[in-house]
Amino acid sequence: MGQISGSENNPPVPQEVLGINVNCCHNPECGNFCVPATITPEDINYLTTPSGKYTASLGCKECGRYSYIKSNYAIHEELFRLQSLNELSTIYRQDGRCCSRIGCKNFGNFKLNDKNSYRKRGITRAGNQRLQCQHCGLTFTLNSQKRKSHPQSKSYKNEILFKLLVNQSPINRAMEMTELSASANYKKIDMFYERCVSFVQAREE
Ligand SMILES: [Zn+2]
Ligand SMILES: [Zn+2]
Repeated sequence: MGQISGSENNPPVPQEVLGINVNCCHNPECGNFCVPATITPEDINYLTTPSGKYTASLGCKECGRYSYIKSNYAIHEELFRLQSLNELSTIYRQDGRCCSRIGCKNFGNFKLNDKNSYRKRGITRAGNQRLQCQHCGLTFTLNSQKRKSHPQSKSYKNEILFKLLVNQSPINRAMEMTELSASANYKKIDMFYERCVSFVQAREE
């Protein structure tokens, strides 16, 4: 808003983001099909026209079709969210099943005995094996399952709370039934969510 379209800070079409550029002609019979629009004001393949107050359309000079200009960054963010990487990272870190650093090539690599992936780094006071990722250097405790029922206290309330939630019980009634504080309930709900994501991911794999 308030910027001049085509200026350096506000190019006519959004920049490519990590290989994602959806602003192109979507007509499979056109020579510009999947040819991305460039951020220069004078694109030889496309022209931009305003549509609505804050949106613009991309017009193909070859076939004449128009499509809405979309944010590549927003699409990248949505793809990232759909991968549920943050939730999986939490689960991996809590259970010590693999390296939990997003972006590390050992993220999701469960071959803990593979010497090229992980190496042993002593034993914790509780007697659990410590491991180090050979790729990024992150250390973690093998199978400690320390926070599987996070928050650790009152894990026996997990089942009843989960049943109340999936039966659409209001949150105040759930708090009364479990006699847990609001913050404890919400922490457990976060934990359920992470566990459900992990379950779905394992099933879909
Ligand atoms: Zn076209
Ligand atoms: Zn790593």
